[in-house]
Amino acid sequence: MKKPDIPADEEARLATLKSLGILDTSPEERFDRLTRMARRLFGVPIALVSLVDNERQWFKSAQGLAVSETPRDISFCGHAILGDEILVIPDAAKDQRFADNPLVDDSPDIRFYAGCPLKAADGSKLGTLCIIDQQPRSMETDDLELLQDLAAMVERELAVVQMATVDELTGISNRRGFVSLGQHCLYLCVRQSLPASLIFMDLNKFKRINDEFGHAEGDSAIIAFAEHIKQVARVSDVFARWGGDEFVIMLANASERLAVDTMARFEQSLEKYNKKANRGYDITFSYGVVEFRPDNHLSVEALLAEGDSLMYQHKKAGRER
Ligand code: GH3
Ligand code: MG
Repeated sequence: MKKPDIPADEEARLATLKSLGILDTSPEERFDRLTRMARRLFGVPIALVSLVDNERQWFKSAQGLAVSETPRDISFCGHAILGDEILVIPDAAKDQRFADNPLVDDSPDIRFYAGCPLKAADGSKLGTLCIIDQQPRSMETDDLELLQDLAAMVERELAVVQMATVDELTGISNRRGFVSLGQHCLYLCVRQSLPASLIFMDLNKFKRINDEFGHAEGDSAIIAFAEHIKQVARVSDVFARWGGDEFVIMLANASERLAVDTMARFEQSLEKYNKKANRGYDITFSYGVVEFRPDNHLSVEALLAEGDSLMYQHKKAGRER
């Protein structure tokens, strides 16, 4: 048996998957009707929407299978997401990668597998729409096209889920996206005994930009600020527009000290931007930093509340200066 390799973009791929906030959610009709359709159209006993998580494949929709997940190591879908095309295994018992796989040897006795990779908008392959039979089978060109079409429908449903976690104006995560990603980030930090830091930011006197230069200019300032966050952040950081003119960043494996250094760099680059953009006003902000230590067990919500209150103290102090 061959364990599936880890894709080259694994870290970003998992971040996109987590950002959907879809893992371990209840079954939904919009996915179930597509797996039902796949099962009926291909006349197979099993059809799945499988999402490949860190160490497991989890089924958002499963027809003909009673379990909700299996280990990634023995998954067929773990192999399917490595390519761009449909992975077809006509007879798993005769394929050295799968012949002694427990899913072939034992229940659900897989012989035939066809899995079409499911791509997110950023190109990450999140999992597959797959069909499984207990008899060997082949796929003709028509069959491949049909499975591809059904997979495109699943992808559209996944895009809808993702849209609900993205801020429309800036394209970065919104509040909902941040909470699910942030929770995942803290969980990883606890597991690896690493610190993390949360930064809560609010633009200064933003209303004045709207009042003096118009709402569209205000929008453009918010977009510019979000772009700056994107440039400073590392792949492992989680950031979002929390709402209005508020932004948040969670830095994984970062002490408060490192977070403050990061913000110093951020302020410098924003200052440069202000000079260059010459908009007739400067974009400035106040922020608060809260450190998360694996032993203080603060939730994302508690960190945010503390960060918000620290930010406000700094803003007030800044105004008084
Ligand atoms: P402070 O220095 O105390 O933060 O004052 P402020 O003027 O920045 O005001 P505050 O943070 O309390 O309010 C943010 C304002 O941002 C309120 C709202 O008019 C404006 N705003 C919120 N969302 C948007 C948006 O999407 N586009 C634009 N142009 N303005 C927005
Ligand atoms: Mg403000």
